[in-house]
Amino acid sequence: MSERPVDFDRLRYMRCWTCAHEWEVDAAWLARFDTGDEPCPKCGTDCTSEHRPDFWVRPQNPARYDDTVRAWYWYHSSTHAVWPDRDFDPAAQLTDETKRRMEHDGLTPGAVERWAARQKSKALHIGTYEAAIENMLRRMNDQRDAASQFYLYRVQLRSDCVIEPGIHPELPGLMGDVELSADAQKANVFRYVNVCEDVSSVSLAIEISAVWKVQSIPIPLPVDADDPGLREATARLLAAADRPIEQTRPEDDDDTGPLERLRRRHTPQTPLASEAGRLRHETADLLPLLQRQQLRVEFDEAGFAGDPSAYPAKLIGLVRLVSDPQAILDALNQQPGHLVPPAPGEQSFLMQER
Ligand SMILES: [Zn+2]
Repeated sequence: MSERPVDFDRLRYMRCWTCAHEWEVDAAWLARFDTGDEPCPKCGTDCTSEHRPDFWVRPQNPARYDDTVRAWYWYHSSTHAVWPDRDFDPAAQLTDETKRRMEHDGLTPGAVERWAARQKSKALHIGTYEAAIENMLRRMNDQRDAASQFYLYRVQLRSDCVIEPGIHPELPGLMGDVELSADAQKANVFRYVNVCEDVSSVSLAIEISAVWKVQSIPIPLPVDADDPGLREATARLLAAADRPIEQTRPEDDDDTGPLERLRRRHTPQTPLASEAGRLRHETADLLPLLQRQQLRVEFDEAGFAGDPSAYPAKLIGLVRLVSDPQAILDALNQQPGHLVPPAPGEQSFLMQER
């Protein structure tokens, strides 16, 4: 098995869907492109066009070769402590009220079972280390998972997995919605260009039958209690907690909307919450441009006194996922991992093949 070099700051590869020009860009170019200030250098098509330039894969990307795909480690991040899980029951998270509504008060019996079957047939998504970390940052930034515990999974594919030829443009609705064939004799690995995370890298939509082995660790890694950066940040928060409440607050959060600003005008922020916000901004500035906007960690002010270093430790741990990936790979190497045995139907297919 081989590990790819991790680089969150590398150049991205673009393809213009008007003139077919392909070229490399950096994060600053992408920022200008997104504001309409930078078009395709060949034909001038900008981000407002239906046939706009989009992320594409370098012609020399080794993921074009099936043997390379099977030899690489692939990554996935999840809030599930067990993944992939054949016994996962999607309906278990639904309330009785939701189930009743899904079945329209008995008018469409079996709707919940059909929905659960569709959820279970959805593809699993694996990609580069960078894509897995960015997926976690994006989900934390979406608020729902700002305080969730995440796990990083490292996947080895089966040597006999069946890979669909070619690398496909990411299709609308592909993320999580691809339904691969249940027929084990067809491809159980589908390559696509990731345009959401680690943009212009190759990700895979796979069936669980393509997985050979999985290793996992909770992320971020814990930070040593005597880490100098952690001690300094904790001391700043403790000092802020002792200061009286400010009557006016600096509008230092450039990513807050008008409603939030209005709300804050009526609820003065505590010095502790202000300091936590400053700490988050300073920490985010340590990240490369593409990941900087995504660093959001819920600050539990009520629980601060019980564990004053929890928040800075989370921030420092998250940045190290980007700045020191080798520590994460070393931690994964310590994990024995577990094999993902084929289901009975898949086993018979594999035995026929041999
Ligand atoms: Zn063009």
